[in-house]
Amino acid sequence: MAKPSLLGISFDTYSSFARGPAQAPQKIREAFLSTASNYWTETGIDLGREGTIHDSGDLRFSSDDAAFQEIEEAILRQLEKRLCPILLGGDHSITLPVMRAIAHVYPKVTIVHFDAHPDLYDEFDGNRYSHACPFARIMEEKLASRLIQIGLRTVNGHQREQAQKFGVEQYEMRALPPAKVLNLTGPVYISFDIDVLDPAFAPGVSHREPGGLSTREAIRYIHAIAGQIVGADLVEYNPARDLDGITATAAAKILKELLGMVIGSST
Ligand code: MN
Ligand code: MN
Repeated sequence: MAKPSLLGISFDTYSSFARGPAQAPQKIREAFLSTASNYWTETGIDLGREGTIHDSGDLRFSSDDAAFQEIEEAILRQLEKRLCPILLGGDHSITLPVMRAIAHVYPKVTIVHFDAHPDLYDEFDGNRYSHACPFARIMEEKLASRLIQIGLRTVNGHQREQAQKFGVEQYEMRALPPAKVLNLTGPVYISFDIDVLDPAFAPGVSHREPGGLSTREAIRYIHAIAGQIVGADLVEYNPARDLDGITATAAAKILKELLGMVIGSST
């Protein structure tokens, strides 16, 4: 049984439009620990009980160039300790080194990816490791057996071709299916880009895209995931763009329900 372990990844070097997500881990922790709410998940798990969650602190990097290698090594160490890594990003580029480590231990993993954007560009602004590209690299390196994208509303011609090439299952906002038809069985890795939420619910992101999920709709999908959850990330929260901490509170709520599902899936 894997215990969830929080690990902050303060990295936003590969953001294409605005920096800021490097400041996110601390803000999400503060909102998560706020006494404005209690520590029970909606699924009936008391996250406040002693020893329920391990906190591994925040990762620091010796240089930007070394960051991906150091992320991968840190995740491998967590998995060796039988922890289930729950990453607080950071921009979405971090999911590539995280998946390199996850796939090493779980080669047949399904990624459930929540995002307004497919992040499947072959390259963006000349950078193949941009936060617009991680899922192209993940599929090229065969780090997942299924990639399911939920909440998309920015798919262009290039990214539609990329999705076909890699066999990505894309569910766009304009035709969202009920959670049960997605057949979300384990082992599952969840990658949650907070901009999947409508900007009305989560304005604190670098790329605001109207027409997104409500917090409730996102939670409904998370609660529908069956089977073992082997890791998760919560990325792209940008405190510099937030309004009165509303997005930090939404991120903390998502984090709480993710943690509840990790604990529920491993018992
Ligand atoms: Mn993304
Ligand atoms: Mn996005």
